[in-house]
Amino acid sequence: MKSSHLGYPRIGANRQWKKALEQFWAGKLPEDEFVREVTAIRLDNLKVQQDKGIELIPVGDFSLYDHVLDTAVMFGIVPKRFAYEGGPVPLATYFAMARGNKEAAACEMTKWFNTNYHYIVPELNDTVPVLTENRPLAAYREARQQLGIEGKPVILGPLTFVKLSKGYGSTPVAEVVATFIPLYAQLLQELESEGVQWVQVDEPILSTTVTAGDVELLNKVYTELKQAAPKLSLLLQTYFDAVDYYEQVIALPVQGIGLDFLHDRGRNLKQLQKHGFPQDKVLAAGLIDGRNIWRADLDEAIRLAGRLAAFVPADRLIVQPSSSLLHVPVSTRSETDLDPVLKDALAFAEEKLEELAVLKQALENGPEAVSGQLASSREARRQLNASPERNRTAIQQAIAQITKQKFGRALPFADRRPLQQAQWQLPLLPTTTIGSFPQTAEVRQARQKWRKGEWSESQYSEFIEAQIRTWIELQEQLGIDVLVHGEFERTDMVEFFGEKLAGFAFTRNGWVQSYGSRCVKPPVIYGDVAFTAPMTVTESVFAQSLTKKPVKGMLTGPVTILNWSFVRDDLSREQVAYQIALALRAEVEALEQAGIEMIQVDEPAVREGLPLKQQDKEAYIQWAVDAFRLSTSTVKDTTQIHTHMCYCEFHDMIGAISDMDADVISIETSRSHGELIHSFEETVYGKGIGLGVYDIHSPRVPAVEEMVSMIDRSLRVLDPSLFWINPDCGLKTRGMDETVKSLRNMVQAAEAVRAKLQ
Ligand code: GLN
Ligand code: ZN
Repeated sequence: MKSSHLGYPRIGANRQWKKALEQFWAGKLPEDEFVREVTAIRLDNLKVQQDKGIELIPVGDFSLYDHVLDTAVMFGIVPKRFAYEGGPVPLATYFAMARGNKEAAACEMTKWFNTNYHYIVPELNDTVPVLTENRPLAAYREARQQLGIEGKPVILGPLTFVKLSKGYGSTPVAEVVATFIPLYAQLLQELESEGVQWVQVDEPILSTTVTAGDVELLNKVYTELKQAAPKLSLLLQTYFDAVDYYEQVIALPVQGIGLDFLHDRGRNLKQLQKHGFPQDKVLAAGLIDGRNIWRADLDEAIRLAGRLAAFVPADRLIVQPSSSLLHVPVSTRSETDLDPVLKDALAFAEEKLEELAVLKQALENGPEAVSGQLASSREARRQLNASPERNRTAIQQAIAQITKQKFGRALPFADRRPLQQAQWQLPLLPTTTIGSFPQTAEVRQARQKWRKGEWSESQYSEFIEAQIRTWIELQEQLGIDVLVHGEFERTDMVEFFGEKLAGFAFTRNGWVQSYGSRCVKPPVIYGDVAFTAPMTVTESVFAQSLTKKPVKGMLTGPVTILNWSFVRDDLSREQVAYQIALALRAEVEALEQAGIEMIQVDEPAVREGLPLKQQDKEAYIQWAVDAFRLSTSTVKDTTQIHTHMCYCEFHDMIGAISDMDADVISIETSRSHGELIHSFEETVYGKGIGLGVYDIHSPRVPAVEEMVSMIDRSLRVLDPSLFWINPDCGLKTRGMDETVKSLRNMVQAAEAVRAKLQ
């Protein structure tokens, strides 16, 4: 039996990696020094893995930005606009593809499966793939020479790579994959002649819904690769869910199969028990959760391994985490501020490697051999489960009761609508914004001063009030119909609520890479979530006191809070979503009681929680919709509930979005207006809706006519009496000047279209 893992966080224990990158980009670190620094980080990371006793250590998983981008440049997939002339891709070009430069726009970035990691989308349209350098080979040599590690090179498999790429139009995937096979073959041959034993070929695409044809294609691909490097052992690695076509997958001509036994809803195990596992292959079993931050239930892991043992002898078993540890923070060591009960129940990347060593020992020498470690692990989990934070019985009972009922507004939209029209007296095509206004350096500095204690509570709130006052005046001058207070008191739309709700904790150093050098520090939902006191009422009421126009209250929705946090593993995500929803409902009610009767509950991250398999999506959408309704349905008929979503691919979700039953939704659209409009040709949307009329991601001030034509196009498929005019998203990252100018033009555009319609 061997212990292994699939990939390690790149960022370093103190985010040294991020700092090095950003200094290099800023021109403050010469290239040779930068390369020295990141090499040291990479070797340090490897050393940790070596010290923890991992036997088969991945190499080549480290990246200077993203592993999909690494694969693309290794194959010379550099779009023409970057003026690349062949050979190994220079660092400047590599980073230009990721971040753009003066001459060329960056490549698109998108979510890596169902994680919050983002990869750079390869553009296959205008390049012929060539092997420009053998990156995994270089990584293997480095680890061997510097640390004596016999590494396991990690590469992204051809099917996943092609399926994650764009720009090959209607060319069949098989044809595109075929152009890469000679390159993979050469790469593997070189690894083979170097004496490499195992190569981990990641094919996470197998965890999505694939077709029989895809698996057949894989068979062809791996047959060819096997011929090219017959002495090399290929480990076909999957993760994040079960594999479809289990029987065909395990029969592929490779020497090892990696399966995730934790995020597979029990399906991999069931398949394995039903169809067995080939006698001539190694099973790399994901038994420790690679994505959560909790100590493993090692007893359960031992039991699971026991079930596998009936089919796979110990000498053909690799024990490992369920996925790369890229998605968890580096180490709990620096979490000195946390409640010890919570801290003790956490396991980040380093601790997971320790757990793996314990697990392996337990499997090889019997649980007695590690009884001390098993007992302390059990005790840490027990203590957290027994903590008052996990035993708020009032919340648990309320959820149990509430979820038995069906929650919804008292009246259907059609009947609420006239009542709301009478109440609000809004013009045709009402104008509004999404919530936040520019978080200028001044705003950020003020928050810093307050956090450090340099400013008193009242100094800070006076400052926030002054900001609100400025923007209420500005919005009135601009002639916007529905105002917002501007969210100056918030750094982050999830953290702000997490800090005020019970059941959340914040780590000091729990950073994970989101994209490039950008890291996020998700809140930790560890207890039952509960409302303790109003969170947003003061600012909203203050803003409303300054104007006769309606001011929208502004909350982050339950599903977004869930999807952007690390979530406890002893309750289903659905249950946790309901707990958050119930707490938010108290806030919605508090706002309404304080006279705020338009309330926006943002759900930008609903899509991010979508399961990978088609057959699981509906159930998720159902409870996501239910959670939203739970938080918003107790208001008066005349109270207008708004929501906002930040993406445009929702052709497959229009029904669900309508089921959320918000009175008004605003959606980002300007970057792919055409597609969205198209989806409304097919499905009628019969509630209030605002399709963003300008892109807030750029400082450019859009002209009135541009926005007029956006609106005109939308009104060809949407009812003007239900249509709202707003930007794509919140304006917090924008400058003051461009924001005012853009909004002025937006109001003019609305007036121009109104004039045509009336
Ligand atoms: N109300 C939030 C804002 O305006 C919404 C942000 C988001 O959708 N990501 O910033
Ligand atoms: Zn948004």
